[in-house]
Amino acid sequence: MYQDCHTVWNSCLRLIRNNIGEQSYNTWFAPIVPQSLENNVLTIQVPSQFFYEWLEENYVHLLKQAIDNELGPGGKLQYSVIVDKGNEQFKPKTVSLPTGKPQPKRNFAGNNNGQSGGGTDLKEIDYKSPFQRKVLGGDDQVSHLNPNYVFSSFIEGDCNRLARSAGLAVAERPGATSFNPLMLYGGVGLGKTHLVQAIGNEIKDGPHNKFVLYVTSENFTNQFIEALKVNNVQSFSNFYLQVDVLIIDDVQFLSGKEKTQEIFFHIFNHLHQSGKQIIMTSDCPPRELKGLQERLLSRFKWGLTADLQQPDLETRMAIIARKMENDGVYIPTDVVEYLANSVDTNMRELEGVLISLLAHASLNRKDIDLELAKATLKNIVQDIETEVNIDYIQKVVAAYFNITQDMMTSKSRKRELVVARQVAMYFAKEYTNHSLKSIGQHFGGRDHSTVIHAVQSVDDMMETDNKFKHSVQELTRKLKKRTLV
Ligand code: ADP
Ligand code: MG
Repeated sequence: MYQDCHTVWNSCLRLIRNNIGEQSYNTWFAPIVPQSLENNVLTIQVPSQFFYEWLEENYVHLLKQAIDNELGPGGKLQYSVIVDKGNEQFKPKTVSLPTGKPQPKRNFAGNNNGQSGGGTDLKEIDYKSPFQRKVLGGDDQVSHLNPNYVFSSFIEGDCNRLARSAGLAVAERPGATSFNPLMLYGGVGLGKTHLVQAIGNEIKDGPHNKFVLYVTSENFTNQFIEALKVNNVQSFSNFYLQVDVLIIDDVQFLSGKEKTQEIFFHIFNHLHQSGKQIIMTSDCPPRELKGLQERLLSRFKWGLTADLQQPDLETRMAIIARKMENDGVYIPTDVVEYLANSVDTNMRELEGVLISLLAHASLNRKDIDLELAKATLKNIVQDIETEVNIDYIQKVVAAYFNITQDMMTSKSRKRELVVARQVAMYFAKEYTNHSLKSIGQHFGGRDHSTVIHAVQSVDDMMETDNKFKHSVQELTRKLKKRTLV
């Protein structure tokens, strides 16, 4: 009797559907497209390699049983895997993978409870895990979003226009725009977390009924490590695979963490393939993310990358005014302007200053005026100065230029060492109270004229070499970060 692949696959699906939960069915079987039936071999198309592995690891017996039922014992199943997107986006490549072969165990899918082989006792894997927060059709989803971070409290300026409008577009049609993933990057305190959480809140409160999850990459890593420890990695990844909108903050923390990157890569692929939205932030542009696997970096480029820059004076003033308004506090315009002028790189620092200012005003029962603002700021700025010392500068600069601290203070006059050394001297002069002589001593006993020359060279190079200037600005941000968070 002639049978076509659709009829056969539909019959298989009926059996499968009767044996597993609805959610697993929708996740793992609904997206499969039957492709051909030739010589008793049914070929089905699956969206990714990961998908294939997951099916083979968890549902191989069920699939085998279905094929046996439909095609008899000689029947075979073959997978056609759409090769991950990227360059070959429009050319799905087919790899034929025979079913039933025991796969090398992957650590994210270690549980094989489903492998019982017999007809009636084929059960849905029973995940009892701390990650299993979303129940079928249930609403006990924990998004970890801060309800204060919304679009209406996010001030728009030239510095964030692209990021903000991309964020709005994503919030309106999560997973359905070309901004997937949406990657926002920028220095510390420039509003990345606020913006991505605003997107999350907007989606969560909107009509979509989507499971939004916010997680810092640090927490993601810790959860993963915990799952490894208790042999529960499958539940971990299973949990993440249910998410409709995954917001992962500060991906730079994944650098060097190979195993965490591995699992993130798979989760990323799966979610992306299933049209789920991924939103990420990083403190630097993706190309500068060190210690991240190339294949992960290339994924980040699929969607839109937008930067958040330092807000200009007016935007900073608007941010201050809005914050104070939210707290029901009035600050005179001259104070707002003074603060906006004094703190220009980091909005979180600005927030810290405002809180101190409020505290001083209420403790001393004083109105907030320019005098109080100046006194408060002075304390904070002094704190900052005492925290950055030459040792720290040397470490940060050495790491940036990929050399050791010993090389920096050595006698060597190799070009790349000299530049790094000069930059570190420049920062030592800028950010510490050390005399030129003392700075020279910290750099392998050099004299004060070497330090003067270094500062001059850095100034000159910043004038003439844009790339170099960018490096110095980047380092400035890194140095300030330590003092301000
Ligand atoms: P990042 O994640 O980039 O380090 P955050 O999102 O934590 O920065 O922002 C630091 C603080 O500054 C937050 O309290 C945030 O609300 C505030 N902030 C930053 N940019 C803006 C903005 N454009 N409008 C309003 N508040 C902002
Ligand atoms: Mg942040």
